[in-house]
Amino acid sequence: MAAAPRRDDPAPPTGSARTVDTQVIVVGAGPVGLLLAGELALRGIRATLVERRHGPTTESRASTLHARTMELLDTRGLLADLGDPPCEPRGHFGGIPLDLTLPGPYPGQWKVPQTRTEAVLEEWALGLGADLRCGHTLHAVHDRGTHVEAAAADRHGTPVTLRADFLVACDGQDSTVRALTGADFPGVPAARELLRADVEGIDIPNRRFERLPGGLAVAARNPAGVTRVMVHEFGAAARERAGAPHYDEVAAAWKRVTGEDITGGTPLWVNHFDDENRLLSRYRHGRVLFAGDAAHRQMPIGGQALNLGLQDAHNLGWKLAATVDGTAPAALLDTYDAERAAVGAAVLTNIRAQALLLLGGPEVEPLRTVLAELVAREEVRARLAAMISGLDVRYDVGGPDHPLRGARLPHVGLRTGDIVCTAADLLRSGRGLLLGLDGPPPRVDAVPADRVDTVAARAAAGSPLDGTSAVLVRPDGYVAWAGGPDGDGLAEAVARWFGSP
Ligand SMILES: Cc1cc2nc3c(=O)[nH]c(=O)nc-3n(C[C@H](O)[C@H](O)[C@H](O)COP(=O)(O)OP(=O)(O)OC[C@H]3O[C@@H](n4cnc5c(N)ncnc54)[C@H](O)[C@@H]3O)c2cc1C
Repeated sequence: MAAAPRRDDPAPPTGSARTVDTQVIVVGAGPVGLLLAGELALRGIRATLVERRHGPTTESRASTLHARTMELLDTRGLLADLGDPPCEPRGHFGGIPLDLTLPGPYPGQWKVPQTRTEAVLEEWALGLGADLRCGHTLHAVHDRGTHVEAAAADRHGTPVTLRADFLVACDGQDSTVRALTGADFPGVPAARELLRADVEGIDIPNRRFERLPGGLAVAARNPAGVTRVMVHEFGAAARERAGAPHYDEVAAAWKRVTGEDITGGTPLWVNHFDDENRLLSRYRHGRVLFAGDAAHRQMPIGGQALNLGLQDAHNLGWKLAATVDGTAPAALLDTYDAERAAVGAAVLTNIRAQALLLLGGPEVEPLRTVLAELVAREEVRARLAAMISGLDVRYDVGGPDHPLRGARLPHVGLRTGDIVCTAADLLRSGRGLLLGLDGPPPRVDAVPADRVDTVAARAAAGSPLDGTSAVLVRPDGYVAWAGGPDGDGLAEAVARWFGSP
């Protein structure tokens, strides 16, 4: 991929206020904001990212991409840019080992440092024309009814006013926009806390969610020789902290729980996190929308927070683009809130269940024993694996009943003429897809050709598409309609998701 220029701060320090007119303001150039800006730019929408950092983050955060996120990155042609990340088929549910193998091209946990994911997304989004303004801190938002106005200060402290059709808050767990709009953010306050450090110069055994008499310990050494330690002492309550804990505190807790002395190591990053669990009551507030950690707060466990946020952006991008360019059918944008808040609630519930299993004291042992026994049953394992991987998502898309309705289009191999491709290749344009699997799809007069590609392709025998004549797929890869050659309900599905030509 060709390197795109960073738009760090195009304006010299003149000290005079300026105004930026754009179509969508995206607050926060973390992974979620970057993916969203790219999705908008892909569809020709002017997206301006406002980011208070002066450059890319160096913080060591999430390191796992799950199967569904890998699929969505595949539909944007971004997998090659991730390099050749290791894949670990074993995951866990609350520390209970869980094989994540499921049908699909990318089962398992793909180990990609968040800094790498962000670099790939940034290059892609900027290459498509997204406008990134680093060193800009947003401090006010006003929904004017017909447009939205935001106030920021650039790195010189110069005021910048931004005007747009919509603003999307992707500004992370302590979202400024959430605070400014007073959005209702109900949930459960933090009860327990984990301490964590990335440490150089220690040589201790790896531990996968080991529950010892005094607490939980995790240690994982990466190929560069840096060990990530995580520790929780059973019963230790979460507490208000002004900043990161001191490494001495982490080393002391580690010693009490494991007996190992890590005081001689050099901490590269020390951090704490807790089990606070909150979800916005609404992801849409008029012309202001929320995605990623700004919309949901959860314990970072098994990489689900990052993956959930990226899938928010993927769901929102095409809907918001269609709304801004005026082609969206009525209420399309509201389906973002309905669909993603439901998914967010389900993921936050599984994270809470895992937090209880991991951080509970001896009283949770019987529950862990029963669950470990159940996980040995294939249907339970597959259900939990789909939940963790994001492959269980099924939206309520309406229309006639069909096993594929509302589910993701399986990423199977297809043949169209002499060309062999995958379902991901057919979604790369960012448009919807009407895919005929038994020859051309049923004829519907009102398919808007600028929004939906019509393709005839055959899937290999035995694929999950067997027995289906045609599918209508949304730009985010979810099946809006599936059925037989009569096309019953197809015209309604086209109108509902894509509008009229
Ligand atoms: C300290 C920490 C450690 C984590 N560790 C893990 C982990 O080990 N495993 C795991 O799975 N997940 C982890 N997570 C969660 C994971 O990193 C997040 O889910 C992911 O980063 C969410 O992406 P996002 O884009 O929604 O938010 P963020 O990545 O937080 O990005 C938000 C962006 O908004 C910017 N911003 C904020 N306010 C403003 C403002 N007023 N004006 C302009 N810009 C603003 C910020 O600078 C930031 O770049 C961790 C999160 C944190 C905060």
